[in-house]
Amino acid sequence: MPEGVTLVAVSKTRPLEQLSEAYDSGQRHFGENRPQEMKSKWQELPKDIHWHMIGHLQTNKVKYIIDFVHLIHSVDSLRLLEEIDKRALRAERRVDVLLQVHIAQEEEKFGFGAEEVRAFFTGRAYSAYPNVRIVGLMGMATNTADGEVVRAEFDALRSLFDSLKPLADGASLQMETLSMGMSGDYELAIDCGSTMVRVGSRIFGARN
Ligand SMILES: *Cc1c(COP(=O)(O)O)cnc(C)c1O
Repeated sequence: MPEGVTLVAVSKTRPLEQLSEAYDSGQRHFGENRPQEMKSKWQELPKDIHWHMIGHLQTNKVKYIIDFVHLIHSVDSLRLLEEIDKRALRAERRVDVLLQVHIAQEEEKFGFGAEEVRAFFTGRAYSAYPNVRIVGLMGMATNTADGEVVRAEFDALRSLFDSLKPLADGASLQMETLSMGMSGDYELAIDCGSTMVRVGSRIFGARN
C-alpha cells in the first residue's frame, strides 16, 4: 500500500487460521461485518489486532463489540450513533466511528445522504454524542465495471470529505479517515484520495 493508506484485511467468513497467517505476515487491521463473529475472533487472536466493523450494524448488536472495536465504518443512522454513544459511556471508552455516506446508484446500500452529513457537521449535531469520535467518512461505490461511474462516486465522496475538513475541532470531530475501495476498485479509490481500503477476496480468495 502507498504511504498514508491503511489496508484493512476483510476477514469476514474466514477461519481463524487464515487470519493467523495474515497476522504472522504482519497484518494488524482486520474487517468483519458480523458482531458475534468479530467477538469470537477477537477472543481467540492476539490483542494487538485492530478490529474494524465494516457492515451494517444493528443497534441491538453494538454490545458485542463495544469493548474492543477499533473503528466502526458503517454508522448509517442517528439511532445507531446514539446506541454506540450510550454503550461507549458504559464501557468507559471513547469509540471512533465513520459516517457511511450513500454514494452508489444502487438503492439497497446503506448510508446518509451527502447533504445530511453536511448538515450534521455544520449544525454541530455530533456534540450530542460525547462518547464517540467521528474521524471520517466511508462509502461504497456502485458495483459496476464502468470505471467512470466509480471514479465519479469516489470523487464526490472525496470532495465532501475535503469540504468538511475545516469543521474538524480536533476533539469530537477529526476528519482523518476516508474509507473507500474494495477488491475490485481499491486502486481507483487510492487514486481518488482514499486513506483506508477494505480488501477481502484479493487477499483471501473468493468467498463462498
Ligand atoms: C465484504 C466487504 C468488503 C470487501 O469485499 P471484497 O470484494 O472481498 O474486497 C469491503 N467493504 C465492505 C463494507 C464489505 O462488506
